[in-house]
Amino acid sequence: MPYAHKVAPGSKVALSKIKPDDNGGMDKEEGLARFAKLNAELDVIQEELYAAGTHSVLLVLQGMDTSGKDGTIRNVLLNLNPQGVRVESFKVPTEEELAHDFLWRVHKVAPRKGEFGVFNRSHYEDVLVVRVHDLAPKEVWQARYEQINQFEALLAATGTIIVKLFLHISKGEQEERLREREQDVTKAWKLSAGDWREREYWDDYQNAYEDALERCSTEAAPWYIVPADRKWFRNLAATEVLVDTLNAYRDGWHATLDEMSKARVAELQEYRAGKPV
Ligand code: ADP
Repeated sequence: MPYAHKVAPGSKVALSKIKPDDNGGMDKEEGLARFAKLNAELDVIQEELYAAGTHSVLLVLQGMDTSGKDGTIRNVLLNLNPQGVRVESFKVPTEEELAHDFLWRVHKVAPRKGEFGVFNRSHYEDVLVVRVHDLAPKEVWQARYEQINQFEALLAATGTIIVKLFLHISKGEQEERLREREQDVTKAWKLSAGDWREREYWDDYQNAYEDALERCSTEAAPWYIVPADRKWFRNLAATEVLVDTLNAYRDGWHATLDEMSKARVAELQEYRAGKPV
C-alpha cells in the first residue's frame, strides 16, 4: 500500500475519511530508515533528470497553514543538487500580477528541462483563498478548474512531470502547531494573527480543497493526499510519491545518457586521433 492517497481522476474526495495521523503501521524509527533510503534514491534520480535534460519536474505543494509545506521542502529536497532545484513561493498577487490572467505569473516560472521545480502554494490558491474569501466572482473561479487542467495538460505534453501533493493535517494538529509557535521564542517570528483568522474558515477551505482535488486530478497531473500530522510520515509519503512517479521515466533517461556518453567518447577519440603522438 502506498503511503499517500492518489485521487483517481473523476473520483469523489471526502477529506474527513482520510486519517491525517496515519503512520502506515510503522513506528518513527522504521519510518526514518525508509525515508533515508528513498531520499538517497531521489538524489540519484535528480542527477539523471538534470543530465538527460529531456523532462522537467514540477512538485506542487498545497495545504492549510502549518501543514508543513516548508518542512517538506527542507526535508524531502535535502540531498538534491541545489543547482537543479528551483523553489517558487506564491504570495498575495501584486498589482501587476492581478492585471494579468491568473496563470501569467505561474507559467513564467514553470521549470525548464532538467530542472526540479517546486511550487510552495501555486495556481490552486486561485480556487482556494480566492473562493473562500470571494476575491473574484463565482463564475470567474468556477471556470478556473478547467483552465488549470488545460494548463497542466500543456505542461505535461511538453515534458513536465507534475506531482501535486495536498498535505492533510487535522484541525487539532494545526492548533497545536500554532500554539507551539507562541511558546517557543525561537519560533515566534512565524506567529501570525492571520493564521488564526484563516482557521475560522477551516470548513470552507476543506470544501474548496475537496473540489480542487476532485476536479483537477487528471491522468497527466494527479493529486495525492499526504497524511501530514506526523512530520516523519509526511516526508516519507511525499518522497515515495516522487520516487515512484519518476522511476517510470528512468529507462528513457538512461537511454539518453547512453547516447550522450557514446557521442562524447567518439568525439574525444576523434580529437585524439587527429593529434600527433
Ligand atoms: P506561507 O503561509 O505560504 O508561508 P505567507 O504567510 O506569505 O506564506 O502567505 C502567503 C499568502 O498569500 C497566503 O495567505 C495565501 O493564501 C496568499 N495567496 C497566494 N496566492 C494568492 C492568490 N492568488 N490570491 C490571493 N491570495 C493568495
